[in-house]
Amino acid sequence: MTNTYGNYINGEWVNGPTFENRNPADTGELVGLFTKGSASDITSAAEAAAAALPAWSSMPAPARGALLFRVADIIEQNLDQYAAEMTREEGKTLPESKGEVRRSVNIFRYFAAEGARLNGVQSPSERERVHTYAFRRPLGVVGLITPWNFPSAIPAWKLAPALICGNTVVLKPASLAPLSAWRIVEACHKAGIPKGVVNFVAGSGGELGEALVNAEPIRAVSFTGSNSVGQWLHERASKRRLRIQLEMGGKNPTIVLADADMNAAVENVANAAFFSTGQKCTATSRAIIEDSIYDRFLDALIERTKRLKVGNGMEPGVEIGPAVDESQLKTDLKYIDIGRKEAGEPRVGGRRLTGGAYDKGYFVEPTIFAGVTENMTIAQEEIFGPVLAVMRARDFEDAMRLANATRLGLCASIQTTNVSRVFEFLHGMQAGLLTVNLPSAGVEYQLPFGGTKESSFGPKEQGPAALDFYSDYKTVYLRY
Ligand code: NAP
Repeated sequence: MTNTYGNYINGEWVNGPTFENRNPADTGELVGLFTKGSASDITSAAEAAAAALPAWSSMPAPARGALLFRVADIIEQNLDQYAAEMTREEGKTLPESKGEVRRSVNIFRYFAAEGARLNGVQSPSERERVHTYAFRRPLGVVGLITPWNFPSAIPAWKLAPALICGNTVVLKPASLAPLSAWRIVEACHKAGIPKGVVNFVAGSGGELGEALVNAEPIRAVSFTGSNSVGQWLHERASKRRLRIQLEMGGKNPTIVLADADMNAAVENVANAAFFSTGQKCTATSRAIIEDSIYDRFLDALIERTKRLKVGNGMEPGVEIGPAVDESQLKTDLKYIDIGRKEAGEPRVGGRRLTGGAYDKGYFVEPTIFAGVTENMTIAQEEIFGPVLAVMRARDFEDAMRLANATRLGLCASIQTTNVSRVFEFLHGMQAGLLTVNLPSAGVEYQLPFGGTKESSFGPKEQGPAALDFYSDYKTVYLRY
């Protein structure tokens, strides 16, 4: 029996016409039916959020924090169930899903504790008997639009800071993986967050996005997703002078220098390029290798890649799940074809996996192109699949030049034991997230998150930076 999941508006579960949520590893499996919200549902949700705002924003922040701690507890109590659901709706492996649900628990606890701080600015006045300070106020009703690739953590890292700052929200999850976000909203309901504070409307991004950005009570929009949708939203939101935060795609490089620990570098590149099927905004899609170790590194990486086990993420030992849907599979295969024309036959992978259980889902081989040069399409465009472009650099300076030669700037990694090179990389790299001797992917919630150049716009997410997006200052000058 298939479960039907309603939208959540003004504290009520609202049902209507539905759309399907299917398992990309086994398309015969229907994970659930979700209510297809309309533009008028978005309007109702925004009005409910506006009505709930005065009481929620004037509740003491530590009391809001106590409710967020309860949300964290509920998610934690159901971690195994929610993780299995995530693997079934998104395709990532069960250990990856468990890690992500754990991250959502930690995010709620981190921002719950922030309720007892919400630090403003306090500094002495130039004048006698004048007290000056600035305190944080919520923005009002905030719209949150989330992608499918981190279907629990991204809703969590937008919802929790929005709520602790005293905002009320309308959340629009990705249509491909709405269940993980729905579970968080259900946890908010069970935790006793008052009606209207959190609203959830699933359905078509185009229709609901337009309605959200035009809904009169909305004061800010936080979006994570593709560059094209981000660009569209930016134009619409600017017309209404909404505060906007956009986290979008990457074309992330990992530089490997000759002095790197070779085994660790191979492992880090394979991990960042292929785990989660390359469907991470922080995935490495370009490996830039110093000339003197290029052949040795490439051979070792190919050997490692051949050993990766692709399959249904529910099965123990599987390291790489399917593409999230048929459209993403086609995108992966399209770029593999482009890569063949540009760089020749891939050194490993390059095909859809078929036969047996593979026929049930959207599986593609982890794929490596070698000899890629900077102007090739596969060195410039985000693929969002398990496809890695390996490039040769003459030396460190050439590697840095190649690494910066894209319009995107989300994250970047270097593998080296030379501390001077590390600092030159940290200062010279045009990216918002930098890793050293680690995979490019794998961020933590307590630090600012976001990119530069065309990857991002607006204040950073997560950690203390999130408060700067979800709150505004009021500044006080008081003579006593
Ligand atoms: P997407 O197609 O842009 O969708 C993201 C969200 O926007 C979904 O909820 C989608 O709804 C909605 N949407 C679609 N059209 C819209 C419109 N016209 N107005 C408003 N909302 C609209 O992106 P995706 O395919 O889900 O995610 C993959 C992309 O996200 C990649 O580019 C990846 O790099 C990026 N990403 C970035 C980060 C980061 O932090 N920088 C993190 C994760 C992912 P529907 O699902 O109904 O279409």
